[in-house]
Amino acid sequence: MLKIFIDPGHGGTDPGAMANGLLEKYLTLAISLKIKSLLSQYENVQVKLSRETDKYLSLSARAKLANAWGADYFMSIHINAGGGTGFETFIHTNASNASVANQNVIHPEILIPLGFKDRGKKRANYLVLRETKMPTILTENGFIDNASDAAKLKQTDFIDKIAQGHVNGLVKAFGLKKKAQSTQPKKQPNTPERKLSGMKPNWKDWQWKEAAEIYKKARVKGILSSDEWEKKAAAKNLTFDEIEYLNLVLNGRLL
Ligand SMILES: [Zn+2]
Repeated sequence: MLKIFIDPGHGGTDPGAMANGLLEKYLTLAISLKIKSLLSQYENVQVKLSRETDKYLSLSARAKLANAWGADYFMSIHINAGGGTGFETFIHTNASNASVANQNVIHPEILIPLGFKDRGKKRANYLVLRETKMPTILTENGFIDNASDAAKLKQTDFIDKIAQGHVNGLVKAFGLKKKAQSTQPKKQPNTPERKLSGMKPNWKDWQWKEAAEIYKKARVKGILSSDEWEKKAAAKNLTFDEIEYLNLVLNGRLL
């Protein structure tokens, strides 16, 4: 049984990077939960997350959890900031051969479908990479403070694509096989088709007003980081994708 430990960066009082109405801690959790759900379709693999809710954990607590669980591989998920663009991965400065080999396989599996600029396969003396006893990788999935990267990170489809890339990398690196009987639920006949990206709902004035109120409250409570969503709702300018993303944040999938 292969044990994969997924570490959603930041959480709780540590929001991570913040810009363009996005908080890193929610994005890393959404990606990590999706990775877990996708990996449930594979056999002989166990997945544990350092956190499944919006809570604070120190870096050494994350490493200790992975060590205590006896993880075979440690994957830490982050979103970058600081004025760049694109995707990069890190292994420890003195990484094992296994870490190097896994980075070589996993890095392109995530990068290529996303169409992000390749910032390269890197090394760093990060605590979670240093204090974990198993092979590790840390992924930086786009820049939250870059307008073009952030626009992508606001789409749930894109978040799912990042998660799928991590899973494809793990499948390739560890030779994972899909379970014989798919555990995916059958589509319900009455489920409406997913709306096309970029489409706006045909809401009444009061519905837009109510949405703006909800996003205003969420900002005051510190769930959303800026008034961008409130303004967009007031201007009747939200797409289905954006509303779906906000619903996920507010309804707790990201909390
Ligand atoms: Zn981070």
